[in-house]
Amino acid sequence: MITITTLGTGSGKPTPERNVSCTTVFREGELILFDCGEGTQVQLTRARLRPGAIKIICITHFHGDHINGLPGLLGTLQLNQRTEPLYLIGPEGLERYVRTLARLGVVGMRYPLKFIEVTRPGEVYRCQDFSITADRLKHRITCWGYRLTEPDRPGRFDVEAAKAAGVPPGPLFGRLQRGETLTLDDGTVVTPDQVMGKARPGLSLAYCCDTQPCEGVQRLAQGVDVLMHEGTYAPDEGRMAHQRGHSTMADAARAALKAGASRLIITHVSPKYTRTDGFERAVREIFPHTRIARDLDVFEMAYKH
Ligand SMILES: [Zn+2]
Ligand SMILES: [Zn+2]
Repeated sequence: MITITTLGTGSGKPTPERNVSCTTVFREGELILFDCGEGTQVQLTRARLRPGAIKIICITHFHGDHINGLPGLLGTLQLNQRTEPLYLIGPEGLERYVRTLARLGVVGMRYPLKFIEVTRPGEVYRCQDFSITADRLKHRITCWGYRLTEPDRPGRFDVEAAKAAGVPPGPLFGRLQRGETLTLDDGTVVTPDQVMGKARPGLSLAYCCDTQPCEGVQRLAQGVDVLMHEGTYAPDEGRMAHQRGHSTMADAARAALKAGASRLIITHVSPKYTRTDGFERAVREIFPHTRIARDLDVFEMAYKH
């Protein structure tokens, strides 16, 4: 299971209602952060998420409402005596920025930092359990959207079906699970699909913030379980939104619909809106499975099988 927690859902500047951009993704005991706006540390505490569990921080772009929380958080990890490596993924210049902070003494970091600067669309990180790809968004400065994708997991091994096919329990079970076709002593051929259930699809989510409607969003969001998309402006403020390199909440819904996403979570809401329930109703007319996130909302993504 993957748990998404929205630590900051506002744009521009923090308000008592909405902190600025940060979303956490918790899977298998590890945290991945998308953006790190000011106040991220306090919000982590409020959400009862452990900074030590952070493995990767993905920064979309260098606007302050997406990165101003990074120096403080990096410093705290040192105070907490971190020794594990931390992956920092973001636009070109991220390493120079963090190294400068260290050189000036703003933050001290003795734990290993692994910088991955994104220079072109494609895969930026891969481990056994998931991969992260980046694609270009359309904003006022260079901005990257991200997609986390888990590989499909093999189907479940059906012990009874294997026994019924004449396979003796033992190492032959493992060979079938690894996809081998067996020929038994009596000449019977047993194929993996006789004893394995259907492959179980992994989960996927895309994080697209800040952007106006663009192809990069569509590529990242194609068929995702969850699309997190900015909706800085009200559904009917398209002109203003696009002039400023942003989207309306209706743009976000259209992107989710076009990409065949299962759910949409809207974030990066302008602080000028004190209520959003009317917007949510309007946007659901376009894409029903939409939520306009609030700070500290928790969304669970469960496997279908
Ligand atoms: Zn922003
Ligand atoms: Zn921005």
